[in-house]
Amino acid sequence: MQEPTHILTGIIIQKAFFRVKSRGIALGLTATLAFLSHGFLDELARITFHPADPDFQSLFWVGYHAAVALTTIIFLVLWWKKYPWGIAFAALPDVDWIFIHGQEIFHVTIPFYQHPHLHDVLHMIYHQIPPFSWLTTILNRLPNERHNPWACLWEVLVVTMLLLILRLMKMAQRPAVQKLKRIANKSFRSKPDHNSE
Ligand SMILES: [Zn+2]
Repeated sequence: MQEPTHILTGIIIQKAFFRVKSRGIALGLTATLAFLSHGFLDELARITFHPADPDFQSLFWVGYHAAVALTTIIFLVLWWKKYPWGIAFAALPDVDWIFIHGQEIFHVTIPFYQHPHLHDVLHMIYHQIPPFSWLTTILNRLPNERHNPWACLWEVLVVTMLLLILRLMKMAQRPAVQKLKRIANKSFRSKPDHNSE
């Protein structure tokens, strides 16, 4: 899928562990699940407009990818500070394409980075290891729309749904945050004031 979809998924995953008391466990779970989410979303990408090679001759391809880039920047500005772990690990596998396309653009060769290693790991997980491979079997029944420009609407729909989930999570967490603030205020007020003694 496109970067905004990966970013939002990472944010939702990090937010889901908001109540886990141990920071180490929360961040470990966030990192693992965000990384795995990338593999799932890339398998789901078959239903969206996602041609393997760039097509700079197509006005639609260029316009769509410009909109995707702009949305990515907006999402990063809005949420990077608050959800760096979720975003970083959900997007991490796409470092593959920076290395691979970077070599093509700058005419250099990095011998150990000729393959998208992180995507290869995810591909192995989602094609060989149950229950992930079961999910892939189900996703493979969906139509392959990678070259259909109209299929970008599926990506828009997924992004809209993720934004809605994020909004609902924020609404659900608000009472919990207010409760924590009330408890903090109470304990602050009930502390004996040593200065007045
Ligand atoms: Zn990817």
